[in-house]
Amino acid sequence: MLLSIIIPCYNEEPVVEETYRRLVSVLKSSGCEYELLFVNDGSSDATLQILKRLSESDRAVKILSFSRNFGHQCAVTAGINCCNGDYATIIDADLQDPPEVIPDMLNLMRTENAGVVYGVRKKREGESGFKTATAKIFYRILNRLSDVKIPVDAGDFRIIDRNVINEFNRLGERNKYIRGLVSWLGFKQIPFYYERAPRFAGETKYPLRKMLKFAMVGLFYFSKKPLDIALSLGFASVLLGLIYGFWVFIAKIFDLTFTVSGWVSIIMLIIFFGGIQLLTIGVLGKYIGNLFDEVKQRPEYIISEKVNFNK
Ligand code: UDP
Ligand code: MG
Repeated sequence: MLLSIIIPCYNEEPVVEETYRRLVSVLKSSGCEYELLFVNDGSSDATLQILKRLSESDRAVKILSFSRNFGHQCAVTAGINCCNGDYATIIDADLQDPPEVIPDMLNLMRTENAGVVYGVRKKREGESGFKTATAKIFYRILNRLSDVKIPVDAGDFRIIDRNVINEFNRLGERNKYIRGLVSWLGFKQIPFYYERAPRFAGETKYPLRKMLKFAMVGLFYFSKKPLDIALSLGFASVLLGLIYGFWVFIAKIFDLTFTVSGWVSIIMLIIFFGGIQLLTIGVLGKYIGNLFDEVKQRPEYIISEKVNFNK
């Protein structure tokens, strides 16, 4: 049995070596065969050099190096596409997901005969209250809106088996929201509760801007509900308009005086309906933008270098 460990790395110079050490010591003592698949996501620091040095002394270290920074989800996708294992573990390079729990996750996977064991964070040390709170709210909203149930408080730290890997590799979309897609694939999926550690060193590579973009992919790729909401808003405003029109008509017939002085109500109506129109056009535009991206059929990532791959 071969276990692939997929480790996306973007400017992780201060941590990769320690990550390598911790992973190797855990995997050696668990006695399973493994490959460490580091995906260098266009790092501009010495990450690649360090990885190459490690790969010279250890054939289990494999490197996929991107031609530029494509983003975390693309890095993980490349890892899943290129791994050879019967099982694959996705783990962050910063040691926030403790490698020590991998054997337990693997055991759980085998005893339960599951296709996916996903890590659920019991506690988020070293992360700002803001990040925790926004993540919580976001996942609750997303679950409301989308048809697939995406586990709350779960990241990409998980083990997937060969069936899931193969099915994942058949998915056609370019903008991947991996945790959602894996849920969508089905098979038996079970949670594994663990405590998330603070980052070992370095800084988060997910600033607010990237987080928002990521959230948008989750929302607009997993749900058509925003379109339904836009439609309902349209219906509601037509209804409101009809009621108001009827009211104005009655008032005109019975010659009620207020119909003349209507400045405030007109301005309010313009703002309100103008807002609804812009909002719904924006939602439509978002979906068209996604189609635009998908239709181009560009590759999700470009590999500039492979190390220790036979093929
Ligand atoms: N990462 C990546 N490409 C990016 C951003 C992040 O490969 O463009 C990797 C990063 O090296 C790390 C993982 O994704 O291994 C998670 O990133 P990070 O720990 O910075 O995110 P956080 O845990 O703060 O959400
Ligand atoms: Mg992290």
